Amino acid sequence: MIASDLSTALLHLRDLVDDASMIVPFTGAGISTECGIPDFRSPGGLWTKNQPIPFDAFMASQEMRDEAWRRRFAMEESFARARPGRGHQALASFYRAGKSPALITQNIDNLHQASGIRGSDIVELHGNTTYAVCLDCAKRYELSWVREKFEALGQHAPDCDCGGYIKTATVSFGQAMPPEAMQRAEELTKRCDLFLAVGSSLVVWPAAGFPLMAKRNGAALVIVNREPTEFDDLADLVVRNDIGDALGPFIAH
Ligand code: NAD
Ligand code: ZN
Repeated sequence: MIASDLSTALLHLRDLVDDASMIVPFTGAGISTECGIPDFRSPGGLWTKNQPIPFDAFMASQEMRDEAWRRRFAMEESFARARPGRGHQALASFYRAGKSPALITQNIDNLHQASGIRGSDIVELHGNTTYAVCLDCAKRYELSWVREKFEALGQHAPDCDCGGYIKTATVSFGQAMPPEAMQRAEELTKRCDLFLAVGSSLVVWPAAGFPLMAKRNGAALVIVNREPTEFDDLADLVVRNDIGDALGPFIAH
């Protein structure tokens, strides 16, 4: 059901939240746009500027690795400056109230952690861009270190001591999904009785399969997105409003 306006949506959402014994939020880039991090698919989003670099291209050439790091550093100011928005804060309120034991996210921006949700209770399907790892030995690198080396090498991506390539700890297109995160996400999805899909275009698979899985397992499905999604017909409630406006009233201080 698509709510006719914001206040109707809020009434329904309040009922669903009150009735739920376990809420699992599932978030996408839309929850972070008000924090100054553009999403991929909105007009003017990252997608319209740069096609993402697929994993095999990153592995195949130094030039692509250099370009991937150049783009990452160009985004650094936005990532570093960003603070949790109203959506993040509302979901952190559910978490603190014991309504929501954990959260699934497609985001890589670390803002759920910054909102006070413990890192171990955040299932990151697409990794995290605020640090880097060696793709061979999994050694962790801080971005400040990578940047220093990058500049010292004349704007070339540095490699690990072991010879492996260093990449932000994110999952690129064509890169394998992290099996543990996928399994935890599935367990959470099947256990919850309210699945809250917030700010995801729900087109990136396999992540988009989770709302469907939740619904098939009997959970109520709520979609919060200012644009239509493919799963709107399936949802118990569609809130087609700004995420901050829709979730802001749920922030508990
Ligand atoms: P997406 O860009 O495909 O979709 C974002 C959705 O949010 C859109 O459907 C848009 O209509 C909606 N939206 C944006 N701002 C909104 C607002 N203020 N209120 C209501 N709706 C709003 O994002 P996605 O589905 O998460 O998938 C893209 C992939 O890109 C993800 O896998 C993620 O890893 C990556 N990504 C992450 C970030 C981040 O971490 N913040 C940013 C860009 C891309
Ligand atoms: Zn290494």
